[in-house]
Amino acid sequence: MSRFLNSSLKGLVPYTPGEQPQNKKYVKLNTNESPFPPSEKALDSIGRCELGDLRLYSDPVCRGVRERLARVLGVETENTVVTNGSDEALNFFFASFCENGVVFNDITYGFYKVFADLYSLDYTEIPLLPDFSVDVDKFIAINKNVVIANPNAPTGLALPLSVIEEIVRSNPENIVLVDEAYIDFGGESAVPLTKKYDNLLVVGTFSKSRSLAGARIGYAVGSKELISDMHAIRYSTNPYNVNRLTLKIAEAVLDDNGYYMNNCRRIIENREYATAELRRRGFSVLDSKANFIFAKSEKIPGEEYYLRLKEKGVLVRHFTNPRICEYNRITIGTKEDMDVLLSATDEIFKELSI
Ligand SMILES: *Cc1c(COP(=O)(O)O)cnc(C)c1O
Repeated sequence: MSRFLNSSLKGLVPYTPGEQPQNKKYVKLNTNESPFPPSEKALDSIGRCELGDLRLYSDPVCRGVRERLARVLGVETENTVVTNGSDEALNFFFASFCENGVVFNDITYGFYKVFADLYSLDYTEIPLLPDFSVDVDKFIAINKNVVIANPNAPTGLALPLSVIEEIVRSNPENIVLVDEAYIDFGGESAVPLTKKYDNLLVVGTFSKSRSLAGARIGYAVGSKELISDMHAIRYSTNPYNVNRLTLKIAEAVLDDNGYYMNNCRRIIENREYATAELRRRGFSVLDSKANFIFAKSEKIPGEEYYLRLKEKGVLVRHFTNPRICEYNRITIGTKEDMDVLLSATDEIFKELSI
């Protein structure tokens, strides 16, 4: 770090994204991207004309995307804000609403802690229970802002909507942010509850279920007042936070919602298949409601399994945190991708005679 960086940031530990190898071709099961391309309509939404229009700034109101998003989610346009990936919505929240502290699980999306440190927030991590379920009672009437990923990452476990509602209801003076990055793979969305509770903020993304990780677009849904604050923060940092091409393609994506929901059904099928096949090979696999599974085998250390898969051209995500270092997080791809993972696993076990 240079001697010029703010002293409050000297100890900053940035978020570590999953590997994005640019040379070797991997079966890439490490960052929870969709194995399916955007729909035909989305692919056709950008041509020379749209590229030519890049000389113009993007729509600061993001009208087209917000209207379609509101329709798909069953809310009003004024209850939505569009952001540069959902990470930006999270950034706005941590930067602007958490002066009285914030609470999240100890094992969850790693960016929460990074933001909390970045803004020198007073934060508490609630340990997941030994079976990796959320210690729900600890969140009831905790009287601090709460951030909860549902389904959680990297476990894939989901909380029922009734539990989310109880957390929201018991903390009326604080915001409960529900990060629904993986909601389309089988969880129950809290979006309808935003009509009933003004302290609920639901954050979502186009990166996972809608095949747009590289376009960088996410959103938040909440009461008119909360969303209006989010827009104020957005206009105070970057009113053109989402670029023209991304807005254009996201509109086409929302017009093709059925295609994406159908892809989610395929991913759920492949998830159930991969879960059963890994369990048949002796792995413990958590019951995932996301587009990844969290798995470990008593026969091989988590890191070694990760490294040997990588040698065979299959990339999965390994975390070094001692509580979860025996596990790997494996993104669900196509059926063929899952078969490559399973054959590579069989080969590894054969080579090690285990
Ligand atoms: C992937 C992910 C995000 C970030 O998604 P982007 O929209 O690509 O910024 C946020 N939260 C969780 C839990 C995620 O897994």
